Amino acid sequence: MSARVTELLTGVLAQERIRHFPGGHGHRAAPEAAPSSLEEAAEVLRLARAERWSVQPLGHGTRLAWLRPRERVDLVLSSRNLRGITSYEPADGTLTALAGTSWAELVAATAGRHHLSPELSEPDATLGGTIAAGLSGFDRLRYGPVRHQVLGLAALHADGTRVKSGGRVVKNVTGYDLHRLWCGSEGTLCFLAEGTLRLYPAPAETAVLRATVASPAEAIGRCHALLRAGVQPLAAVVSAQELAGPAELAVVLAGRPEAVEGEAALVRTHAQPSAELHGADALAARAELCRAGQGALLVLATRPSILNAALGALAKAARALELEPRVSLHPLLATAQVEFPGIQLQDERLLELDEELAGAGLRARWRGLGARTPRPRPAAAAADLMLRLKRSLDPDGLFAGGPP
Ligand SMILES: Cc1cc2nc3c(=O)[nH]c(=O)nc-3n(C[C@H](O)[C@H](O)[C@H](O)COP(=O)(O)OP(=O)(O)OC[C@H]3O[C@@H](n4cnc5c(N)ncnc54)[C@H](O)[C@@H]3O)c2cc1C
Repeated sequence: MSARVTELLTGVLAQERIRHFPGGHGHRAAPEAAPSSLEEAAEVLRLARAERWSVQPLGHGTRLAWLRPRERVDLVLSSRNLRGITSYEPADGTLTALAGTSWAELVAATAGRHHLSPELSEPDATLGGTIAAGLSGFDRLRYGPVRHQVLGLAALHADGTRVKSGGRVVKNVTGYDLHRLWCGSEGTLCFLAEGTLRLYPAPAETAVLRATVASPAEAIGRCHALLRAGVQPLAAVVSAQELAGPAELAVVLAGRPEAVEGEAALVRTHAQPSAELHGADALAARAELCRAGQGALLVLATRPSILNAALGALAKAARALELEPRVSLHPLLATAQVEFPGIQLQDERLLELDEELAGAGLRARWRGLGARTPRPRPAAAAADLMLRLKRSLDPDGLFAGGPP
């Protein structure tokens, strides 16, 4: 099959735009097409449709370890050669770029003037992949998920037709917000070609206040106290080497100097910090906190009201399996990134832990274990809606994956 796909691709793409995607993390190897224009990408899709291939879009591949491998992929369609900023309007606070543009390039273009959300720690991630992954960044507490930043998208449907939704301006009231549906569609509905993001003013001041507390539960309590006092941090992060041991709370404030100072005063009252960083030190600490949890094997997404109970369930199950989780928490977002120092992916105890967590009603996402953990089933009504969406937007099922 691969040889035939590669051979037919040479009819629509130059040889240097075709290469081999090696697979990994349970994803199979396949030929990879990297068109250099939307016309070429549309040609590839038309060929794939005629040949009934199953296609998986790809950005830089940084999310693959977290994604469940598709049952069948005949062709990987890469945005690698579709890069570049099409327009940056500093006065309007908008930026449009091709899907394969790296996050680092977008950050560099807007540095000093604007804050680009989501704030990612992975510089090679592409614009298209970030939108299609539909996650959020370190700054989610203030700016929300990536879906909130997308003003408009251009995409290719399975038959190669170019479609647009939304626009390039902040005030846009025409048409359905189809682009919001594409956010988080993980390459199952369309190939994203270009996106426009809203930007935020770059904060004039950043401060990081740190407190050492007796336990993650106490740190979570202090975060809620901050919220009740009216503090609106950019992020609040709790790190703990063990779930029952001491934890460090870091509160990141960003904005106008007088606003940051006002909030810092409230943090001093309600979170009793032992250290404060400002200026370049605060920026370095913010970048380091953004990278915290990068070694996570497991992400737990729950609700703020049950975060403590979820951590209790994790601690109990881990203790029974003699695993020692290390956590990085965003209590106000109720997410926990969990590392298991020294534990290999092949360790069967991780699968047992997954079962225990599922039994406790907790939704866990694993890095690198997608092929071995049971696929979570959405509620019947949601599954039916997703299936109907997939059938109407990708009637031939050209894009690999989709609802169960
Ligand atoms: C160290 C590290 C830190 C990270 N930190 C964060 C973080 O803070 N916040 C966060 O949100 N994520 C984070 N991630 C996850 C990941 O980097 C992001 O989701 C990333 O933005 C995905 O970009 P990518 O180009 O690598 O996409 P890929 O991994 O290539 O693809 C991701 C998904 O999008 C689909 N896709 C890719 N391109 C297109 C396209 N053009 N059209 C349609 N579908 C497409 C793919 O099929 C796949 O389903 C991190 C990852 C790493 C390794």
